[in-house]
Amino acid sequence: MNTSANAGRSHAVLSVASRRRDAEFIAGRPSENTPTDPTEYFGCNVFDDRAMRRYLPKAVYKSLRATIDMGTRLDPAVADVVANAMKSWAMERGADHYTHVFYPLTGLTAEKHDSFLDPDGKGGSLAQFSGNALVQGEADGSSFPSGGLRSTFEARGYTAWDVTSPAYLMESPAGMVLCIPTVFLSWTGIALDKKTPILRSNQALNQQAARVLRIFGVDPKLPIASNGGLEQEYFLIDGSFVSVRPDLLIAGRALYGATPAKGQEFDDQYYGVIPSRVLAFMADVERQLYRLGVPVKTRHNEVAPSQYEIAPTFETGNLATDHNQLIMTVLRKTARRHGMSCLLHEKPFGCINGSGKHLNYSIGSPEVGNLFAPGENPHENAQFLVFLCAVIRALHRHAGFLRAVVSSASNDRRLGANEAPPAIMSLFLGDQLTDILEQFRSGVEVTGTAGKRLMNVGVDTLPPLPADPGDRNRTSPFAFVGNRFEFRALGSSMSAADSLVVLNTMLAESLDYAADFLEEHMQGDQARLGEAVQKLIQTVMDEDAAVIFNGNGYSEEWQNRAPWCCPPFPPTTPDAVPVFSSPEVMALCEKYQIFTRLELKARQDIQLEEYVKTVHTEASLAVRMARTQIYPAAVRYRQELAASVSSCRALGVDASTASLEELSALIAGFEKSLAEMERKVALVNWRPGEEDILPSARMCCSVILPAMEELRSWADRMECIVAEDLWPLPSYQEMLFMK
Ligand code: ADP
Ligand code: MG
Repeated sequence: MNTSANAGRSHAVLSVASRRRDAEFIAGRPSENTPTDPTEYFGCNVFDDRAMRRYLPKAVYKSLRATIDMGTRLDPAVADVVANAMKSWAMERGADHYTHVFYPLTGLTAEKHDSFLDPDGKGGSLAQFSGNALVQGEADGSSFPSGGLRSTFEARGYTAWDVTSPAYLMESPAGMVLCIPTVFLSWTGIALDKKTPILRSNQALNQQAARVLRIFGVDPKLPIASNGGLEQEYFLIDGSFVSVRPDLLIAGRALYGATPAKGQEFDDQYYGVIPSRVLAFMADVERQLYRLGVPVKTRHNEVAPSQYEIAPTFETGNLATDHNQLIMTVLRKTARRHGMSCLLHEKPFGCINGSGKHLNYSIGSPEVGNLFAPGENPHENAQFLVFLCAVIRALHRHAGFLRAVVSSASNDRRLGANEAPPAIMSLFLGDQLTDILEQFRSGVEVTGTAGKRLMNVGVDTLPPLPADPGDRNRTSPFAFVGNRFEFRALGSSMSAADSLVVLNTMLAESLDYAADFLEEHMQGDQARLGEAVQKLIQTVMDEDAAVIFNGNGYSEEWQNRAPWCCPPFPPTTPDAVPVFSSPEVMALCEKYQIFTRLELKARQDIQLEEYVKTVHTEASLAVRMARTQIYPAAVRYRQELAASVSSCRALGVDASTASLEELSALIAGFEKSLAEMERKVALVNWRPGEEDILPSARMCCSVILPAMEELRSWADRMECIVAEDLWPLPSYQEMLFMK
């Protein structure tokens, strides 16, 4: 390769090709004091129950334990003792700093480190960490997006420990840091983060679920909580390629790149043998996560080349969300140590699958079990059917809200493409369960008539349902899988918090409705419960069953029929997000005290702001790369072709100008498209704090994105004819297949 024209690319290829083959064993080797049995060190960096028992006086332990189990506020009287214990525990393990970890509306994880040391006024210093510092930190969060919620003169926010998520130690070459998961609010109590609404929605869910349970004669002592099992997909690309691809480095995705001769057509990657370099990385990630108490369980190759998945065992939704943020942090950090880059972008490479995140969702408690699991007897089944109907109704009525929280510039590139759920929100129940609901529904009217005996709520037991009903139906965005629902529309880089909040909230509302309905139809007579449930099933099936679809979500038949019977699943972020300020969503969130109108509007603005910023950054970058990398490569090659033709002809040798003309035409198209693109990028002149962001978002979507696609198509065609040694960007083939 000519190293002057594409020195960066040649160097990247050479460095991957000449990598020491045992490098992974060096990077991924466990430290000498890591036991081989993970149960010996699982959770060793977590201030968990074991640590609490050891470090806290018994009475304080009991009080803290109750706070955690009941999800209530920490008693300030015990906070000092807990803080002291936590500090001793952390310092014994080498920590010298602590930080409140919070989740601002960017969807990222934020931290600000403070030292344990305080000057003692006599020239020395004391290690201090008071209850106040534990329970409440102060964060000048003026630079976090707040959608106009906090003007800068009241920029102070405060953070408060979420006791249901344990503190932990984060290791780094710089030492250990005590991390305290916290909520982040303004001084006036406005939620500026993604955790506060989870806690609020848990409360709403608990209240309404408990109401329904009481109707069934169960009086739960422990709160009913949501559970989340989050499967996380990601790409691993050698770091040397990323450093010479400004698009991967800055935007996290390839803005240019011709389709390689081989992509994922052979299906030879999914569940294939994991390459040893990747396996060493995975094992390293897992050991770190075990120490942090994250119950990682599954790892495998995904469909696209260089794409993988990691999934822990489910936990309470709040903890699972925190742990997913930790997983993303550890994946990124560890990849760098292994000389790779972990891409969590939803669609890093065109023409092959992008990455998503699946939220497996159920509700329950250790006391009442999983409320989405069919029961063993008619009474339990009746209860299960009520919870099932609540989900059907909730999804049918609030699909737009759920769609809105999974929209982003990057996830728009994935949703609706063949790898991800289609752009229609539907619920996969499986034929058997759908049929059963139908039978229960008709039962009320038809019992007694001749023919097939229909099922009766409170009398008949459900036939055993397969834990995993038939085909997993990957074409459904929301699927019932035996004892939980799997929501598959989340983007890989997204926080799971918003989806969890919407699921909890919409379910709370439907459970509230169900409880009212049952109470009204029973009129205080417990003997009429079965009849009331039957009536509820009938009503929900009449009004909301349109959301159930068990077929192929990509079939033409469904694509044509769905818009008439199903809630819309708007194709892009600017279409989807304005639902936040619809009367339905506002009423829902206000009623269950999840968000005030102000908070909703702020979230809408922030999500649209993120969208505009993302598209604008990508567009500017696309222009820069076009001008400084792609155009120069193309004209150099044209020069070579032209020189070759003219020197041949000078010698009287016949030389065709066909290639030269073809390239010239592409260059002309590219130049024109580039000029257009520059003109259009300049049109987006929205600045933070400006009134209405929606018009800018719409313009990004309808004007900028198509212009980028057009520019790219010229570049990708040139990549296929320009000499390899002149092309500056590592190709898809190199990035996806060289390890
Ligand atoms: P698949 O790839 O087939 O969807 P995985 O085993 O990768 O399945 O992931 C399934 C996820 O669902 C895991 O995180 C698992 O712990 C979680 N899960 C299992 N049961 C429940 C449940 N009752 N509630 C929530 N999540 C669950
Ligand atoms: Mg799954």
